[in-house]
Amino acid sequence: MVTTRFAPSPTGHLHLGHAYSALLNERFAREHEGRFLLRIEDIDPVRCKDEYSDAIREDLEWLGVRWDGEVLTQSIRMEHYARALEVLRIKGVVYLDPRSRREIEEGSPPPDRSVSDTLMTSTTPAAWRLDLKAALEITSNTSWTELDVGLTQGDIEPHGDVILARKDTPTSYHLSVTVDDAAQQITHVIRGRDLFDSTPVHRLLQELLGYPAPIYRHHELLQDESTGRRFAKSDASKSLRAHRAEGVTPTELRAQLGFD
Ligand code: GLU
Repeated sequence: MVTTRFAPSPTGHLHLGHAYSALLNERFAREHEGRFLLRIEDIDPVRCKDEYSDAIREDLEWLGVRWDGEVLTQSIRMEHYARALEVLRIKGVVYLDPRSRREIEEGSPPPDRSVSDTLMTSTTPAAWRLDLKAALEITSNTSWTELDVGLTQGDIEPHGDVILARKDTPTSYHLSVTVDDAAQQITHVIRGRDLFDSTPVHRLLQELLGYPAPIYRHHELLQDESTGRRFAKSDASKSLRAHRAEGVTPTELRAQLGFD
């Protein structure tokens, strides 16, 4: 069954760019008599706030977006990410890295395997990184099917040994999104073009973890007419609730985004 999802991080209020992505996902699921799921990607305890999670549901409901089933909340799923990391550890494609950001900037090389093994039984804080070279020896399949385009290849090399679990959070965006797209049996990942470059990392993790490959569609990013830039929480794009406070109706807003 076709299954799509909208997976915002509750680090701020939703803006028109989010609304567009949520509506695209919902419409695609409905057109295919499938399911549309909502996932709250709140693994970052510093930047994510409960008030934003509540506001996301409220804003989507106001807009008339209806998701199926329970909302999946990442912050209560840490054991699932830990299990996936353990699979990768057994495969020999991750290592522990105790370097600080400063040491990395100063060019300190990654630790060798014996250091990583020692760190397993120590209390020294360390991040888990993907050993890209070792991973690519197991599988080099990082391509995917892009909806309406076909077989697509991204470039994984610039990512290097990405962090899969941080020193302070036992997971990362890349690991948790991959685990949850599989757990929720997502068949079509419809998300903004800003995440296109992350897709080879997710594809590699899917191959290593034995997960199925979803079809992807990386949609264009809407321009915020008031700032002339694409919508982003960081540059204080006008939120859906600010539009609502000005008296804009859900129907008007949907029409503005091309949805009746
Ligand atoms: N949580 C991510 C964000 O808000 C989106 C993840 C995804 O769609 O893969 O940017």
